[in-house]
Amino acid sequence: MEKRIVAIVRYEKPLESVRKAVDLSHGLDHLPSRAKVLIKPNLVFWTRTTPFPKWGVITTSRVVEDMVVLLKERGIDEIVIAEGMTTYDPADRETPAHAFESLGYNLLKRRYGVKIGNVFERPFKRIDLGSGVVLNFSTELFESDFLVNLPVLKTHAQAVVSLGIKNLKGLLDIPSRKRCHNPHPEKDLNYMIARLANRIPPCFTLLDGIFTSERGPSFEGRLRRSNILIASSDIFSADKVGAKVLGYDPSEVPYLVHAAQDFNRPVDLSDVSVVGERIESVASFHEHAFPYTEDGSLPKPLEKLGVRGLSYRRYDHTICTYCSGFTTVMLMAIASAWKGEPWDEVEILTGKMMRPTPGKKKTILVGRCMYQANKENPDIQEMIPVKGCPPDPREALKALQQAGIEASPAFFENRDMVAGFFMKRYEGRPEFEESFFKIA
Ligand code: SF4
Repeated sequence: MEKRIVAIVRYEKPLESVRKAVDLSHGLDHLPSRAKVLIKPNLVFWTRTTPFPKWGVITTSRVVEDMVVLLKERGIDEIVIAEGMTTYDPADRETPAHAFESLGYNLLKRRYGVKIGNVFERPFKRIDLGSGVVLNFSTELFESDFLVNLPVLKTHAQAVVSLGIKNLKGLLDIPSRKRCHNPHPEKDLNYMIARLANRIPPCFTLLDGIFTSERGPSFEGRLRRSNILIASSDIFSADKVGAKVLGYDPSEVPYLVHAAQDFNRPVDLSDVSVVGERIESVASFHEHAFPYTEDGSLPKPLEKLGVRGLSYRRYDHTICTYCSGFTTVMLMAIASAWKGEPWDEVEILTGKMMRPTPGKKKTILVGRCMYQANKENPDIQEMIPVKGCPPDPREALKALQQAGIEASPAFFENRDMVAGFFMKRYEGRPEFEESFFKIA
């Protein structure tokens, strides 16, 4: 059986560690000379208003610059760094521009002549990925001869892990992203993710695990300094090894199971040769799910506060990033509104397939999808819809207040500030260096 090489390297030094990962994995051996190369980092969140935890959330600029240098050493002149960042307002062009500037990408432009691209400013192309999956990808992908894929090594509350294949979702247009989070009983999020790599050009994947995260994809989870790089010219093998390093057998990751079937390859590591560090020497379990009460009706932190009279179920795979990003704001607003008096049997539903629990007195339907799915449901006594897509924060505040939850408008007016609160967890911890997200 042909074995695909995956290199595991401990991050020790700028440039040299990435160079070692590239060399050991032979990841750039098949890079065509004069290729146009697309670099795809993972910039899952950004805000202009406050510093926020980036460690294990977004790709380090350290790794991005090191890859640019290694490509330049191979004589590559045409390099584009492109990302389709999710922002609260999908039409927001200033936040991605601020991210590119802050992360030093414009310096890379001046220093090495790379181009920087916000994929939402470029056209998309309809691509048939097989098995009935058709999605719109950025044309940047198909105008490139080679892809350097730079995801973060992280777990993910919906997909268990978010690694090389899932990073490609950032090259989709917004309707396609929403379509990935569908309620189809078989062709669900995992089925869609598994097919994202089906039409990509030759690719090198480097999982950036200098910092890793539990309960990703964003800053709400637990972030760690891990100093791991995982590299391969085979994206599926990189992901299988990445999952193992995060403590999951690939067979426990639904999108990897789908991908194995689709590629007609084993889901285990029998077709992979790991070089460099051994998996066991770097692996450590990373939780992927946020803790909930046993019946799944309330996040543990709200239970700890003693909250009663509220059901806010764990979100499922049908909620898209726009609605799920809302959850943190809602939960923080609810926690601070709790005064010890039980609320009047309020239920909050999200995503596309939740159904109301009979007997609840007030039902808040977050997002257009939830409203459409339940607007005629006879189990709802008092319906409180937040209809938008993405939902309007002012409407969400009004909905909570209508349900008797006296949330403070501050959380909804300054949603980005919520990201800043999470910085406190990392104060006084020198291993969390901001310098990894700058270009010197
Ligand atoms: S309402 Fe929410 S879940 Fe539905 S498509 Fe819009 S963002 Fe996605």
